Amino acid sequence: MLNSSLHIDVFFLSLRIMRCPYCNSTDSRVADSRPDIEDAIIRRRRVCNQCGAKFTTVERIQMRDLIVIKNNGKTEPFDRDKLFRSIKLACRNRDVKDDQIEKLVASIQRRLETESADDTVTSAQVGQMVSDSLLNLDPIAFIRFVSVYRKFSKVSDFKKIINQIPEDKDDAVVCKLPKTSLF
Ligand SMILES: [Zn+2]
Repeated sequence: MLNSSLHIDVFFLSLRIMRCPYCNSTDSRVADSRPDIEDAIIRRRRVCNQCGAKFTTVERIQMRDLIVIKNNGKTEPFDRDKLFRSIKLACRNRDVKDDQIEKLVASIQRRLETESADDTVTSAQVGQMVSDSLLNLDPIAFIRFVSVYRKFSKVSDFKKIINQIPEDKDDAVVCKLPKTSLF
């Protein structure tokens, strides 16, 4: 069951103006809502009152606005799309699907929101969570991600990290994702 605070978030999200992608009208009605608890999203099937077109909107449940403190001390808003893109890049040409990356990002975001006491997280925290998750998902993507995130400059940097990978991770994609513990 959704708890009351999430009801409020969803309520505010639903007040956002939705434009019909066909005629740009803001006059639409919700025909059907389907919450996806695991991914913390709600899919709404809408019907445009202007042109009759049907379209789907996806609303993400966001519990908090997180601020990321970078290594150089600068801050920036947590950007889940940027996180998705960096993981997708690490998974390029690997047997990892977009919805697996989406689940991984949702899981990381939920953990950050839960573990942060004051709405701030460090980029090191985010990087570590992504690394841990990718090691379980796909070891090659893990190596790629870590090499960028830790700014590897020498071959020996790769050797060190490869030596830390448990041998049972060596045979390709494992694809076991932690469930988001939202409710
Ligand atoms: Zn329309």
